[in-house]
Amino acid sequence: MIILDEEKYAQEILGRKSFPKLKNLIVLAKYYKHLGKNQIEIKNSLYSFCKERESTWNEIIGSWKIKIAIEESERNRLRIPNPTPITKKEISEIRKAGDYSKEKILFVLLVFAKFLKYNNTRIKVDKTPRIIGKYYVNESFINILKYANVRSNKKQRDVIMHELYSDGYIDGTIYNSIIVKFVYDESPVALSVSDYDNIVLAYDKYLGKNIEECECGKLFVKKTKRYLCTDCQKEKRLEDYRDNKRRNRANMSTD
Ligand SMILES: [Zn+2]
Repeated sequence: MIILDEEKYAQEILGRKSFPKLKNLIVLAKYYKHLGKNQIEIKNSLYSFCKERESTWNEIIGSWKIKIAIEESERNRLRIPNPTPITKKEISEIRKAGDYSKEKILFVLLVFAKFLKYNNTRIKVDKTPRIIGKYYVNESFINILKYANVRSNKKQRDVIMHELYSDGYIDGTIYNSIIVKFVYDESPVALSVSDYDNIVLAYDKYLGKNIEECECGKLFVKKTKRYLCTDCQKEKRLEDYRDNKRRNRANMSTD
């Protein structure tokens, strides 16, 4: 799956104790470069990251991964996403599908296509032939459906794909990517997507469903009176606990 917010992802990897996978080393190399580290510093940071996480790690066996990660950081910048604006005309095109599952899939496709267009990370010129002005999605259809929270089997996916195609929403390419054909950038903005972990909730929120936006920008389905997301809620509870402890200690010392 494509990582839309690589800055956040890099910070998560650094906080975890997981095995140093190549994919993660690539994001980290780009992250360190983004922080202003030079190539030698990046290399050193990646070495210590690997050693810390895998006791048996050694340069002879593992340095090829670091080499690739650094090379990749020379080709692509760290992807720090901008909010993606979705326009009124685009929403009305999506609504025309008249089927909630399809609408969600179309919404996710649209966000991906616009996102990739506006958040190009290439440092050097892209050599793959692209038709200028088109909006592409390179993510697999199965992952798009995951983002859309739509459950399906292979047969159902094929049917949906075919219907979106025959209704003129999408086109295919010989590179196996999807062209999104309902982009109307010039129409007024209806909403903006910035929580890329919960793309489809932005659509639900627009439809007036019970979606809450946390102070940190994360969207979540509102079930109770809670106004903070799970992470912030945990953080707040911890802080309250520390506050209480501090207060109790202060009370005790004045007694
Ligand atoms: Zn939050």
